[in-house]
Amino acid sequence: MTKEKITMNNGRLQVPDQPTIPFIKGDGIGPEIWGAAQTVFDSAVKKAYAGQKKINWLPLLAGEKAYQETGQWLPDKTLSTLREYLVGIKGPLTTPIGVGHRSINVTLRQKLDLYACFRPVTYYPGTPSPVVHPENVNIDVFRENTEDIYAGIESDVGTADAEAWKDLLTKQNKISKVRFPDTSAFGIKPISKQGSTRLVKAAIDYALANNRHTLTLVHKGNIMKKTEGNFKKWGYEAAEKYGDQVFTWNQYDKIKADQGAQAADQAYQAARDAQKLVVNDVITDNFFQQSLLYPEHFEVVATMNLNGDYISDALAAQVGGIGIAPGGNINYQTGHAIFEATHGTAPQFAGQNKLNPTSIILSGAMMFDYLGWTEVAQLIRSSIKQAIQSHHVTVDFAKTAAATVLSTSEFGDYVAQLI
Ligand code: NAD
Repeated sequence: MTKEKITMNNGRLQVPDQPTIPFIKGDGIGPEIWGAAQTVFDSAVKKAYAGQKKINWLPLLAGEKAYQETGQWLPDKTLSTLREYLVGIKGPLTTPIGVGHRSINVTLRQKLDLYACFRPVTYYPGTPSPVVHPENVNIDVFRENTEDIYAGIESDVGTADAEAWKDLLTKQNKISKVRFPDTSAFGIKPISKQGSTRLVKAAIDYALANNRHTLTLVHKGNIMKKTEGNFKKWGYEAAEKYGDQVFTWNQYDKIKADQGAQAADQAYQAARDAQKLVVNDVITDNFFQQSLLYPEHFEVVATMNLNGDYISDALAAQVGGIGIAPGGNINYQTGHAIFEATHGTAPQFAGQNKLNPTSIILSGAMMFDYLGWTEVAQLIRSSIKQAIQSHHVTVDFAKTAAATVLSTSEFGDYVAQLI
């Protein structure tokens, strides 16, 4: 048995039999959901490999506990360890609104250049849902994770920076576009060709490898023509580099303009018949409507940071909410990845051993898939499925009289014994 670090070699992840995986329990309910999740992970690895493989969990500090112990919200050691060991997993971390330190989550994504936030949204039968047919939702969201207004370049009202923006806009004769310049704060929205291309490529590679046949670029390019409009343009350009494997709506429009609608429809149908990946696009507001009315029309979504943040939570609500939705932040080029619970710290429930650990457990399943330990991922998912189907759930999912309400730790133990 080897006991080494996970490494990246020629674009492929090399995973030893006993990899060290750093984890951050997180703030609020973080330690409770982590405890339940670790029990499930260890049971699944043991079952899958009968002791041949094992995870060496390495605890790291971040958030409130880190601040109390080291005076740093994100200690340098935490960042350097995550950098060194490539793959990690974390619970939620507190971020104050409007004041205080910058989001540790956003900082981690930027420092490790984790450019793709991958959030698969799928329904587990038995989960309470606000929609009639939640089983129609099976959408993999790829959200760009390092750019957009989340870059954090903001200037507060009345500061020298805000004055500098006003001066620049005045010189460019654009200040009249700012309705109330003297009381405006300003934010910058960088969207690059490189950033957009690598995100769309990650989404296409995933779609092709996982037998998905539609990929939708979601943008607001009708209004933000130079940022979100270019995301759409660069997205189509990146897709068309895949040649025969894809058919884009951009190609459809060209055929329609040159040869008419019938020829374009025929080309589209031929692409569908050949099971090519069809790449289309939709304006963000329309996406929110369409994905609620006809979620079955969407398979893989590629979008920018802010859109992706909203979209992934809105879709998660259809399948039962953020208590169950998993996520991973990945750089497919360097191999760095952090898998995480998608919900926050739920501080009002901290210490009550009450809320749902499924989000971090399913994020762990994504991590095992990423490591190539797919047997472990399958065991975890099928045990979660059985627990929910048999109504052994935490309080948030206990919506019927048939439910047996379990605490966070009891749910972890219950899922672990199903493995
Ligand atoms: P939140 O996700 O913490 O809580 C919102 C509500 O969602 C809770 O009141 C609870 O009803 C429900 N909920 C959350 N987690 C749940 C779970 N595991 N099981 C069942 N129900 C659950 O969001 P918030 O109140 O807006 O944020 C609280 C703190 O968390 C803030 O400091 C915020 O910055 C932080 N946060 C962190 C992350 C992260 O670390 N990735 C993400 C979002 C918010």
